[in-house]
Amino acid sequence: MRIVVVGGVAGGMSCAARARRLDESAEIIVLERGRHVSFANCGLPYYVGGEITDSASLLVQTPQSLRAALNLDVRTNHEVVAIDTARRTLSVHTPDGPTELGYDALVLSPGATPVRPPIAGIDSARVHTVRSVEDALALRERVLAGPADRAVVLGAGFIGLEVAEALAGQGLGVTVVELAEHVLPPLEREIAFHVTGELHRLGIALHTGVAATAIEPGERNDVVRLADGTALPAELVVLSVGVRPDTDFLTGSGIVLERGAIVVDEHGRTSEPSVWAVGDAVTSVHAVTQARRPVALAGPANRAGRLVADDIVRPGSARPITQPLGTAIVRVGEVTAAMTGGNRAELDRSGLPYTTLHLHPNQHAGYFPGARQLHLVLQVSPTDGRVLGAQAVGPDGIDKRIDVLATAIRAGLTVGDLIDLDLCYAPPYGQAKDAVNLAGMVGSNVLDGTLRLWYAEQVREVVDSALVLDVRTPAEIASGTLPGALTIPHTELRGRISEVRDEVIACLLYTSPSPRDGL
Ligand code: FAD
Repeated sequence: MRIVVVGGVAGGMSCAARARRLDESAEIIVLERGRHVSFANCGLPYYVGGEITDSASLLVQTPQSLRAALNLDVRTNHEVVAIDTARRTLSVHTPDGPTELGYDALVLSPGATPVRPPIAGIDSARVHTVRSVEDALALRERVLAGPADRAVVLGAGFIGLEVAEALAGQGLGVTVVELAEHVLPPLEREIAFHVTGELHRLGIALHTGVAATAIEPGERNDVVRLADGTALPAELVVLSVGVRPDTDFLTGSGIVLERGAIVVDEHGRTSEPSVWAVGDAVTSVHAVTQARRPVALAGPANRAGRLVADDIVRPGSARPITQPLGTAIVRVGEVTAAMTGGNRAELDRSGLPYTTLHLHPNQHAGYFPGARQLHLVLQVSPTDGRVLGAQAVGPDGIDKRIDVLATAIRAGLTVGDLIDLDLCYAPPYGQAKDAVNLAGMVGSNVLDGTLRLWYAEQVREVVDSALVLDVRTPAEIASGTLPGALTIPHTELRGRISEVRDEVIACLLYTSPSPRDGL
């Protein structure tokens, strides 16, 4: 059997490697358009910023090492330009000219390509993208050429902010422009807010809620024009406004696409026999909301690649590809933000009812040096208590909490189940009641009516209809409270309860970690 894989990085190479481990006799050919295979896309911003110093370490494997370890026939600089699914052949552009290649099983993992908005000047030589090793090398070279440069990053998504931090760390004056109203649009506003604060601390300027309308080339620098009239001179512009499936070469193949993404079933099979597809180029179904859209993340691509190999080599017994939760994480300066499952906008679109919980516990025991707050937002189903989504931001321990919550969502756990999770604890790492356990406790209180919540967006209604009682600590109260609020720290409340006995009360709650357990 000849298995041909198109795209030799995350999904494609996972598939090829697994296929070889399952079948020593198969002929496995990987066709890659670029110069490199198995490179560390996710590491590129850190090379630009100088944290990864050796570009060779971005190349996780080479065609030679893959031949030696797995007997894979890896052909770089080979671009598939058309597929004839009836004849089971590929048209390939190679360094030696065009050629045809037949297949028994074909796996498509062509990934995604940066979106290039149709604005004047987008093709300026000063505009860079960050998709390939060559892109990262070019950017690094540009950074090293002059420390006083000004850079504009278009797009404040995960990659845009990683690149912005990388450039700012190298001494460039960086401005980020984002069309959405806040950075990292998939994050809730209250989580993204902390990232914005960190960007300011890093000296990165921010323009949100505004589009770039033109890039005017100049002799010494370009000028990025924004819709609100702002002009941003820059020697370097980085384009990071999103990606789209790199599937133009499938035109005429008969393979069904949906808004440019390849439609696949739960085994990665496309509409055409013997053709599978994985990764950024395919349409996935969101595990919580059931929305159909591509998920451009490395984990789902790698896992799907492996499972497609199972389906090719062991048809009938392969496990289906799980629906992604969109679990993602980003570091910005000293802050980490992460998410999993549905956010409010996605849940609104899906029609699923949800209740939002906010928690602000410390990331580890309050008495242990370095204790700082993390901020956790959970979406839970008010009908069956299932956890639907979670996001967190803070100094550290964010990955652990979101990974636990991603596992909880995958397992269909309810918010009450979070109380019982037996999580590791010692003072440097967490609390005896971990943030995730606390989320379970708060969520259970909310769902069984022990605790009724009001939200910031209801503040006017609340102020008009109730006495706002601020029971936080004096230090927290000193940092600001609502106009007209009665401030009685909760430690004094029993003694002063007569002051509020007959009032309709809306509490402004204590938001610090739970008291020490003495453990
Ligand atoms: P890719 O890994 O992109 O591989 C596709 C390959 O196919 C490319 O090398 C391309 O040249 C080749 N190809 C395309 N068309 C053809 C053709 N016609 N013929 C031959 N070859 C072709 N994800 C995370 O989860 N965490 C991160 O921190 C993270 N950071 C990222 C940082 C950057 C800068 C980038 C660019 C991506 C990052 N991602 C991250 C996303 C992650 O890298 C992708 O989701 C993942 O690589 C997708 O795998 P894939 O196999 O679908 O595509």
